[in-house]
Amino acid sequence: KGRDRIDKVVAAQTSLSRKDVHKLLSKGKVTLNGEVVRNFDSRVDMEKDRLEIEGKVLHLRRYSYLMLNKPQGVVCATQDAALPTVIDLVPQQLRRKGLFPAGRLDKDTEGFVLITNDGELAHRILSPKSHVPKTYTALLDKPAGEEIAAAFHKGVVLDGVKCLPAQLEVLEDDGKKVRVVIRQGMYHQIKRMFLAFGITVEYLRREKIGGLSLDEDLQLGKCRELSQNEVELLR
Ligand code: URA
Repeated sequence: KGRDRIDKVVAAQTSLSRKDVHKLLSKGKVTLNGEVVRNFDSRVDMEKDRLEIEGKVLHLRRYSYLMLNKPQGVVCATQDAALPTVIDLVPQQLRRKGLFPAGRLDKDTEGFVLITNDGELAHRILSPKSHVPKTYTALLDKPAGEEIAAAFHKGVVLDGVKCLPAQLEVLEDDGKKVRVVIRQGMYHQIKRMFLAFGITVEYLRREKIGGLSLDEDLQLGKCRELSQNEVELLR
């Protein structure tokens, strides 16, 4: 119990197929706690064992959690016929099966996208019922003030649907740079909330999911794994 077949574990934790893994095992390229393993059905303890493939340690984790700083022009999907997707930006060594973006930013929105294969956590973060706040900064074509902040707080109605209360904070004196916190993810929600007041969002960037902020050192288009502590902050 708690021990899985080595070929299954390696395939699940890399972008390799089961067949590729069998080849590596046959060639003696896989070590388990320092010993070469060739047997396809050797067992691995995800918690304790140390696996190396071609000399590189494979971190054994049930799930993978990546923070991406999404650039404009990239779509939040796993596949697209014409445009690069957020999954295309995941470097080879961080690729896992089943990775998907937990929530969608528009093509022209930048910032924090969580990429994971943990469907349960993704659901918890995205469900409006769990009220996980998502924090954005926006640049507007016209200033926003107290009235709009009050309307956001009451819940803007979009196409007959009332949004959950949102917070609006003006960050610069000209009123055009703002921070917005929403707790759900309706289609083009922030842009539509401002458009309801005749204001166009010219630039939008997600800064934070739950209590976890986008890493300032993470350049546009780059992603990195989250630590366990950081994963806890997402909830
Ligand atoms: N609201 C929007 O309008 N667009 C996004 O990408 C995210 C929130």
